[in-house]
Parts: sequence; structure tokens; C-alpha cells
Amino acid sequence: MSGQKIVVLGTGGTIAGTSARAGDNIGYTAAQVGVEHLLQAVPALQALTDCHLHTEQVAQIDSKDMDAPVWRALALRCAHHLQETDVRAIVITHGTDTLEETAWFLDQVLAADKPVVLTCAMRPATALTPDGPQNLLDAVAVALTPGAGGVVAVAAGEVHGARWVQKVHPYRVNAFSSGDIGPLGFVEEGRVRLTRAWPKNQPSALSGKALAAIENIVDAAQWPRVEILMSHAGASGAVVNALVRDGVQGLVVACTGNGTIHQALETPLVRAQASGVRVVRSTRCPEGQVLPKPGDVLPDSFGLSPVKARITLMLDLLGQGAD
Ligand code: ASP
Repeated sequence: MSGQKIVVLGTGGTIAGTSARAGDNIGYTAAQVGVEHLLQAVPALQALTDCHLHTEQVAQIDSKDMDAPVWRALALRCAHHLQETDVRAIVITHGTDTLEETAWFLDQVLAADKPVVLTCAMRPATALTPDGPQNLLDAVAVALTPGAGGVVAVAAGEVHGARWVQKVHPYRVNAFSSGDIGPLGFVEEGRVRLTRAWPKNQPSALSGKALAAIENIVDAAQWPRVEILMSHAGASGAVVNALVRDGVQGLVVACTGNGTIHQALETPLVRAQASGVRVVRSTRCPEGQVLPKPGDVLPDSFGLSPVKARITLMLDLLGQGAD
């Protein structure tokens, strides 16, 4: 053994799912198999490395139900392990449904220079041809790649950066895309072929200051309430007014096209912003980003998808509260 560790944190998902019939790829229950067992099912893993594979079950959920307590726990375990000099990388097994949100959340709070690799599966562990074992093997290969760093997602032989990764298909095995920017790289027979540089942070990023910021986030009694709305044909402003009355602090709008909003929704949103609610425009288009224009009244999300813009706005509001 090299004396180094790769920490594998389990959170559930389809990768840990089981179904009564081996051929059933949709009627399964997610989050049934422990992370330790997932690793045992892939003997090739230990052949890849002389690092010790240390497992921890941080949660056991279907990631459609991801919530603040699990994110808090995950951020704390990652921060703890990333500080340890003998930890080379972290691999996280996760459901596909909200993987992109967890990846972006961790990217924002950890400022990791070591690799933090999320992986998943579209087929349960009991499937005739489960994709989880190969994805796990590929994730560990990415974690071991010299020079790798930052928060990335690995699935179906592709490596995606946290900023761009999005689940784009509800069924097929290659369900993830980084839109028009493309994957960060590919995993081929255990080797990574990069298309651009790793998204990693400066080596000093997980400093005392960064850790204090994580603790601040984790300790906050309640995270700011940020909701996502969609602009669509026949939209009305009623939902904005109801949310403002209910004390919402931030609103992200999944706008049409280049950040345009139905007039019935726009007026109450501008009013909400004037009353102190933070409003951010993203686009409901799966590729590209809102291009700002002079005179825009509502700010755009700097290319973040609606779900990621929500996380950034929430963290931003949390930071403001702590000042
Ligand atoms: N609902 C599952 C989850 O996100 C889907 C999956 O993992 O593919 O946990």
C-alpha cells in the first residue's frame, strides 16, 4: 500500500438501487446497497491502485430527495478528508437526478484542489448490464490521474466539470452532457483523455478561511429560501406574488430564450426585486447562456442553469447574512 487513501462517500441513488427482476431498469428502488458492497462488486478497483479505498455512508437516498441536511453532511465530510495529507481524492456515489446540483454546491463551498469525483448509474445494481461498476472504476481512474483536481462528474466514459454538467436524458446510459462546451475529457480503458484543463482551484484554497466558510454554511440555522420559476406561454404573476408574501428571499427564473420573460410574470418580478427579493434570470434552453444587454433590469446567471443559479444565489444570500 502507498499509505495514501481514496475516500469513497456513498449517498445512494440508482447505482445502489435494486429491483425484483434483473431485466427491470425502471421499476427499482434506489439507495438499497451500501457503498462498501458497491466497491466489493468491482474487484478490478483494488487492482487499479495501491491506495487504500476508505468508504463512508454519508446518506442513503434517492437523489430526487436531496436536501440541505445531506449537503451539509457531505460538505463537512469532504472538507474533513480533503485536509488530510494522506487523502489523495474523494469519490462520491450519487443518484443521477440531482448530481449536477450536488457537484455545483460542492464546487462552490469546497474550492477543492484535489479531485472530488461524483459518479452514478442509470441502471440499478441488479440490472442485466449495470453501468455502475464501470462508472465507479472510471471515477477511481479519474481520481488517480496525475494532475487531476476540482469537482467533476464521471459517467458513461465521460468526465464533466461541475459548472456545465447536466442530466439531459431520463433513460439512456449516457444521460449527461456539458452542452455546447462538451465534456472535460473521456475515460478510455482506465486512462483519461482531456479536452481542456482540470477545473481545480489553487492548492491553498481549502485554507482556514475556506473551512470557516464551510462551517458558516453548515452551521447556518436555515439556508435562504430561493425558488425557481419558469416563464412559459400563459404564465401568470400569481406565483411570484404568493412567494413574496410567503417570505421568499431569492427567485431564479428559467426564462425563455435569451432571458426573456412573459410580460405577466415580468412586472411582479421587477416589483419583487424593488422590494428586496434577489431575482436572477437563467434560460430554460438546455444549451448556451443568457447574453446580457444594456438596460437589463433583472441580472442574469452568468451562464448557470436554473438549478445551479439557485445554489449560487442561496450561497450569496448566506454570505450576505453572515457579514
Ligand atoms: N432517482 C435516482 C436518483 O437520482 C435516479 C438515478 O440515480 O439514476 O437517485
